[in-house]
Amino acid sequence: MHLRKRVLVTGGAGFLGSHLCERLLHEGHEVLCVDNFFSSDRQNVEHLLDDRRFELIRHDITFPLFVEVDEIYNLACPASPIHYQHDPVQTTKTCVHGSINMLGLARRTGARIFQASTSEVYGDPDVHPQPEGYWGHVNPNGIRSCYDEGKRCAESLFFSYHRQWGIPIKVGRIFNTYGPRMHPNDGRVVSNFIMQALRGTDITIYGDGSQTRSFCYVDDLIECMVRFMASPAEFVGPMNMGNPGEFTIRQLAELVVEMTGSSSRIVCEPLPGDDPRQRRPDITLAGEMLDWTPRIALREGLEKTIGYFDGLLRSGLLPSA
Ligand code: NAD
Ligand code: UDP
Repeated sequence: MHLRKRVLVTGGAGFLGSHLCERLLHEGHEVLCVDNFFSSDRQNVEHLLDDRRFELIRHDITFPLFVEVDEIYNLACPASPIHYQHDPVQTTKTCVHGSINMLGLARRTGARIFQASTSEVYGDPDVHPQPEGYWGHVNPNGIRSCYDEGKRCAESLFFSYHRQWGIPIKVGRIFNTYGPRMHPNDGRVVSNFIMQALRGTDITIYGDGSQTRSFCYVDDLIECMVRFMASPAEFVGPMNMGNPGEFTIRQLAELVVEMTGSSSRIVCEPLPGDDPRQRRPDITLAGEMLDWTPRIALREGLEKTIGYFDGLLRSGLLPSA
C-alpha cells in the first residue's frame, strides 16, 4: 500500500519520462509532468491526459518553477548525441541551470529529488566494467562535453546541495536504455538500427562496430529508479543503473537484421569524435542496496521495441521534433 504523493517528473514526455509517469500513476500517485518538448512529443503522454491525477505543463527547466511537490525526478535533458549536440549551450544550461532550479525547488518544498545522471560521466572509460568509484576519462571540450560535463556538474551540484543544506538526493547513473517510445529519429543506435531494418535501408555502423555498449530494457530501468527513490534517505548514490550484458555494435546490427528478417545491408560510416570504446555497468551496488537486477534479456526487449516501431511505421503517426 503506497501513500499518495504529488510527484514532479521533468522531461516527463520523453522516452524514460513517459514510462515513469505511467508507472507512478499506476501506483496511485499524482503526477506533474513538465517538458519543453525539445526532444519529444505530446504523443508519448497523450494516453495519460484523461487521467485526473495527471497534469502536463510546457516549461523549460532552465527557468524557475514554483509548484508544490513531495518528490522530484529530474529527467529533463536531451539524451541522444544528435539531440544534445544540436544546441550544446542549451544542453549544458539544462543540466546546470535546470539542476539548480530543481534543487532550489526541492529545498523550498522539502521534496526528495532523483537526478538522471549517466554512464557518460565515465567518458571513454579505461576501467572496465565501470564501478561507481571510477572518476572517469572525459574530454572536457569535445563534442560530447556539453552533455558529459553538464551531467558531471549536475552531480556536483546535487552533492553540494546535499552536504550544504541536507537536501535528500538520489543520483543514478543510467547506462544505455532502450524500448518503446524512443524517438524514431533520435539517432541512438537501437532506434536507428530498427528503423533502418524495418525500412530496408542500409544499417549504419559507425567505425568498425567493435565498440561495445550494454543495453537495458526500459521496464527494468524504471523499476530500479522507483526502488532507488523509495530506498533509505542515507543512500544517495551515485548508483549505476543498467544491464551488464555487453554487446559489440556489430552484434547488435546482426541481431536486429535477424529478428526483423530485413534485407538491409550493414555498412560502415566514420566514427564520431570521442565515441567511447566500451561500456558496461558494475551493478553490484544496486543489487545490494535495492535487491534489483535487470530481468529482460536483449532479444526479448528488442522484440517489444521492434513491435513498437513497426506499429508506428504502419500507423504513419511518426512523432515530430
Ligand atoms: P528523451 O530525449 O526522450 O527525454 C528527455 C526529455 O527532456 C524530452 O522530453 C525533452 O523534451 C525534455 N527536455 C529537454 N530539455 C528540457 C528543458 N530544458 N526543460 C524541460 N524539458 C526538457 O531522453 P530519455 O532517454 O528519456 O532520457 C531521460 C533522462 O535520462 C535524460 O536526463 C538523460 O540524460 C538520462 N539518460 C538516459 C539514458 C538512456 O539511455 N535513455 C542514458 C543515460 C542517461
Ligand atoms: N552507432 C552506430 N550507428 C548508428 C548510431 C550509433 O554505430 O546508427 C554507434 C555509436 O557510434 C556508438 C553506439 O552506437 O558507438 C551507441 O550510440 P548511441 O548514440 O546510441 O549512444 P552512446 O554513444 O551515447 O552510448
